[in-house]
Amino acid sequence: MTHVAVVGAGAAGTMAALHLLRRKDSRALRLSLIDPETGTGPGVPYRTADPRHLLNVPAGKLSADVTVPLEFVKWLGNNGLPGAGPEDFVPRGLFGRYLSGEFEGARDDRVTRIHRRAVAVTRQGDGLSVALGNGDNVQADAVILAAGPNIPGTSWAPTWLRDSTVFVDDPWRPGALDDIPEGGDLLLVGTGLTMADMACTLRSPGRVVHAISRSGLLPRAHRPRPSSPVSAPTFTMDRGHVLERSVRYIQDVIAEGGDACAAVDALRPRAGVLWAGMTVDEHEQFLRKYRRLWDIHRHRMAPQTAARIDDDIADGALRIHRAELRDSAASGVGARVTLSTGQVLDVCRVINCTGPQYDITTGTDPLWSRLLASGLVRPGPLNLGLDTDPDGKLAPGDAPMWTLGPLRRGNLWETTAFVEIRAQAEGLAALIGS
Ligand SMILES: Cc1cc2nc3c(=O)[nH]c(=O)nc-3n(C[C@H](O)[C@H](O)[C@H](O)COP(=O)(O)OP(=O)(O)OC[C@H]3O[C@@H](n4cnc5c(N)ncnc54)[C@H](O)[C@@H]3O)c2cc1C
Repeated sequence: MTHVAVVGAGAAGTMAALHLLRRKDSRALRLSLIDPETGTGPGVPYRTADPRHLLNVPAGKLSADVTVPLEFVKWLGNNGLPGAGPEDFVPRGLFGRYLSGEFEGARDDRVTRIHRRAVAVTRQGDGLSVALGNGDNVQADAVILAAGPNIPGTSWAPTWLRDSTVFVDDPWRPGALDDIPEGGDLLLVGTGLTMADMACTLRSPGRVVHAISRSGLLPRAHRPRPSSPVSAPTFTMDRGHVLERSVRYIQDVIAEGGDACAAVDALRPRAGVLWAGMTVDEHEQFLRKYRRLWDIHRHRMAPQTAARIDDDIADGALRIHRAELRDSAASGVGARVTLSTGQVLDVCRVINCTGPQYDITTGTDPLWSRLLASGLVRPGPLNLGLDTDPDGKLAPGDAPMWTLGPLRRGNLWETTAFVEIRAQAEGLAALIGS
């Protein structure tokens, strides 16, 4: 009997659990799924109850079971959206409910769902022991770490702001938006997908929502129909020239009349190989110079979200600034903030929309600091997530521990989307469950 402890019951942990349970040879398996959340499946992105927060992938690509491609579309049809089709972008909360349902359907006496926080993992003979927040321990033969990270960093915020009630440090924390006044202007820090969701949620008559970022660039929109096909990349992976060739490929596509989104889509299946082929210098250059450009073309807004954002920009309700936050102080309405452009704004809240913080060395969860200090795991390249082998086994590799999803960012770069998580979960189940 193999006992697998999965830490984290968001999309990644739940998909790993589902794949393990569905294996034909998994009768000799015991599974503990550890996460303090009430739900199993939604994790951070898919627990939102706001119907304006849409998936940024069409429903037809999001089946939990890759052998039944339209399973999620069928689920939508049976759960209040009879007209939903594979091309539709539907509320993320529905996807969370679907994943929960899949887990509940597969759950049986092999599974223990533990609603606690894991605070440490240590060696125990040939296996591992997961320490829980209440002092209990779970002994396991193998551990899958699937605990995010999807929490945004706050080190950019001035001290006064960070300590003040005007600051919303993590807009995805349940209840984080509850006490935002109906009126009063807002400052959203970040201009990516989280900003787009927050701008949709918090728009209100007479309110101006300001959004700032260094680039001032917004994610592109998904188009109802793809642009004309572009030729697939064929360049060679010469050491030290991978980034330059990738950038040139995108420039060539644009010069030939294609669009950057199509070029990024064509590169994406090779993203892991390209990332692994880059030198440290190239990684650093990518993060400094091209990351934002990659992200806005790769992680696109659902068409409905993009239309709302366009409307709000057109009528002045949403103002995008290419700026950083320089200073903040208390004011009558909440905070007076000074931007690097010199502009001064009076806002009732400042909302952190900077997105997940992938630097594993800066998080506050003791699970990571203890694991790193113990040497059982080490940070991934550039401190992004944790270092793994190509199968997701955690380096240095002498403990039976694996990970998947956002925690593999340093090794793979493109590893946060559900479709990537699904493929990794299947691979892990084949390795651990056999
Ligand atoms: C706002 C947002 C929207 C997104 N939208 C999309 C989308 O539309 N399509 C798409 O493909 N991808 C999307 N993504 C990407 C997304 O990261 C992945 O799809 C996926 O949700 C990652 O799952 P996860 O389980 O690794 O992380 P999470 O969802 O963060 O789940 C981690 C879980 O671990 C638990 N946990 C944390 N610490 C501990 C601990 N110490 N002990 C026990 N449990 C712990 C948490 O409670 C949480 O439930 C989105 C991401 C974000 C942040």
